[in-house]
Order: sequence, then structure tokens, then C-alpha cells
Amino acid sequence: MKKQFAVIGLGRFGVSVSTELHKLGHEVLAIDSNEAKVNEIVNDSTYSSVADGTDEKSLRSLGITNFDHVIVAIGDNLQASILCTLLLKEMGIASVWVKAQNYYHHKVLDKIGADKIIHPEHDMGNRIAQHLVSEKVIDYIELSDDFSIVEIAAPRFMNKRSLIDLDIRAKFGVTILGIKRGKNINISPMADEQILENDILIVIGHKNDLKRFEEST
Ligand code: ADP
Repeated sequence: MKKQFAVIGLGRFGVSVSTELHKLGHEVLAIDSNEAKVNEIVNDSTYSSVADGTDEKSLRSLGITNFDHVIVAIGDNLQASILCTLLLKEMGIASVWVKAQNYYHHKVLDKIGADKIIHPEHDMGNRIAQHLVSEKVIDYIELSDDFSIVEIAAPRFMNKRSLIDLDIRAKFGVTILGIKRGKNINISPMADEQILENDILIVIGHKNDLKRFEEST
């Protein structure tokens, strides 16, 4: 279903988010106070406008209150990012996601009601580190300090064996959420599903258990 998003701040992060949402077929209003930035996004957004994200009148005249999702991607200017978030929440926007610069910025955003606070550099750094230390880990999502989801090449010992036979949950304490085979993905595989060579497993669990599983061969 087509959704409506507004992105305020068109630095590298804001542009990536807008472009991808637009590519996925959603309606995107892209806003920046810098005209040059707005001109660059014209073809990768549905509407684009030069406006100050801290000016309530301008935001209202752009119809921002009709949007359910707004992404605040104002970079270094913490004051503008905070004020913009506050205005959006005061105007009743249901879902406001904000890119944070640091811990203090995060704390303030949390207090004023940001619905999701994103640290792209930190999250990407974590993912890259996981790839570096384990050649088997293909992708990694941190759910909390203790729990993660990883994509991992199926260990050799699993080849041609079924999930019920392998009893991974009992042995390692992790759960296989899905199996990627070539271009196909099998979500919540059945117990009799066999693992094949070159399968990629999507696994959820405690970090310690996942590590034990990754290290098994
Ligand atoms: P990134 O780290 O994602 O590249 P930047 O800090 O480079 O982020 O970019 C932030 C963008 O936010 C810039 O294009 C800047 O013009 C825009 N911006 C800054 N303040 C405001 C504001 N008050 N209203 C709208 N856009 C703003």
C-alpha cells in the first residue's frame, strides 16, 4: 500500500531515505532549507520544497499534518533538529523518526517524544565490525544489548539435515527464522525442512548463543 512520508533535511542520510522510499513507490515530500539540496532531489521525490524545518507556519502550509510519517534528518544543527521534532510532535504527527548526532541529542529527542531515534553511523559501524570478525556473518541487526538477528552461511554440519533432526534451539538456544536459497526466502520454515549447502540462515538469539552457533562448523 502506498504510504506518505516527509523527509526534512537532505544531507546524505535524508537523500538516501527519500530516494529509496520514492523508488519503493511511496509518496515523498522532501524538504531542506538549502535550495541547491532541494533541486538535486526533484527527480527522486514526489514533491520537494525549500523550507525551514523549525518554522511551524511553513511546515503547516506544506500540509505536513497530512503525513503519518516524518523523518527528521537535519544533521549537525542539533537545535534545529530538536525544535523541528518538538513542532512535529506538537502538531500531532503520529510517527516521527529522527537521526541523532550523539548521546545527549538522543536523550533530548527521547524526552520530547521522538518515536524512533536513529544512529546510522553507529549502527553501520556495528554491522561492519560483525562482518570483519566473522566471515560467516552476512548481515546483522542489533535488537538490544543482548539479542540480535544475524544472517549466516549455513554451517557445514547442517548440510542435508532437517531442522527437527538438528534441534538447533535445544542445542544452541537460537531460533532459525528463515532460510535464503538463491533468490528465494522461506520464512518460518517447517520442522522437516532440509538445510542445503550454500543456504543462508536468518537466526535470532542471545549474542553469546549466536556466537557459539557461528563458531560451529
Ligand atoms: P548528513 O550527515 O546526513 O549528510 P548533513 O548535516 O550533511 O547530514 O545535512 C543536513 C541537511 O539538513 C542539510 O542539507 C541542511 O541544509 C539541512 N538543514 C539544516 N537545518 C535545517 C532546517 N532548519 N530546516 C531544513 N533543513 C535543514
